[in-house]
Amino acid sequence: MKITDVKVVTIGLNVPPNGCSKGRFLSFRGTALVIIETDEGIQGIGEGYGPEYYIARTIVERKFKPWLIGQDPLDIERLWRKMLMTTVYWDQKGQGVAAASGVDMALWDIAGKYYGVPVYKLLGGDAKGSGRLQAYASDLFWDEPERMARTAKGYAKKGFPIVKTHLGNGLKEDEKRVKAITEAIGDAELMVDMNCGYNRVEALKVGKMLEKYGVYWYEEPLSPYDVDGYAWLKSKLDIPIATGENEYTKWGFKELFLKNGVDFAMPDIMRCGGITETKKICALAEAFEVACSPHSYTTGVGLAATMQLMACTPNCELVELDMTGYALYESLLKRPLEIDNRGTIKIPTDPGLGVELKKEIVKKYSVD
Ligand SMILES: [Mg+2]
Repeated sequence: MKITDVKVVTIGLNVPPNGCSKGRFLSFRGTALVIIETDEGIQGIGEGYGPEYYIARTIVERKFKPWLIGQDPLDIERLWRKMLMTTVYWDQKGQGVAAASGVDMALWDIAGKYYGVPVYKLLGGDAKGSGRLQAYASDLFWDEPERMARTAKGYAKKGFPIVKTHLGNGLKEDEKRVKAITEAIGDAELMVDMNCGYNRVEALKVGKMLEKYGVYWYEEPLSPYDVDGYAWLKSKLDIPIATGENEYTKWGFKELFLKNGVDFAMPDIMRCGGITETKKICALAEAFEVACSPHSYTTGVGLAATMQLMACTPNCELVELDMTGYALYESLLKRPLEIDNRGTIKIPTDPGLGVELKKEIVKKYSVD
């Protein structure tokens, strides 16, 4: 089999402001979908992360496409190394790796379709044996405490055992929201995500408050550059630290693990190097007895790839399920998610990733 074409479809839309730390908010979500065609008529679809979809598109079309055409799409390891080695000198982290992640994901989609099995079957099969994945409800964004509590209660009522919220606007304001949400969700637990908003002093002060409420995890309190800070903070707190959505490749995660800076590693398949690299990051984490909960605030393509990877990886826990009603989520899946009243999802079993790109979706959400 040979690759005959590589295209990038860019889609996105304005969303209600997703408020997080330090008064910041996100009001547009866009992404680059990589489409790879083959001479056997099999098409692969992948996603490269980011609002910087136009950069990912340029990298795929100008740096990768010219030599990818004519290659065997099943030689994924070799093609992955060539992609990373052509950008690595000046782009070890960031959009170069995100663009390669989208290509890698599309190659795995092709491989699954070629062999007629879901990708997780190619990578080790159902690691937990239940045929299902536990999810948590993501995300609550910064708002008045009562409104956040009401939304959180709705997620808990659906059966999700854990709900995630974004905070990071000072101890007092954060605590008001933690109190309101934890009271509203009953037996469900709360994860708190700071989106890198605090310095070390602030992160420790707020972390001590979160300890009182026994939060499930404390996500990205510090800058991703401050790996030593993560190790320091983790040694000071009795709540688990989650981080990694802004880290890239196994070499990046190696530092976090060696310095004991993380309890839940959160590689993002759309940017850390794709399925190939995330599987290796998880194996590295396993050797350090660290759990992995891949980050996936993404389209349905990224979600599908994340579920396939998590299904076959023993130390993966808790699928991040976007509850915001994002228009590019389930609309890109071949079939709707099967979620039960405990918040577990049936592992999709269609060959490949189980995604499809409908013409009307591309037309409606296309961005330049
Ligand atoms: Mg996060």
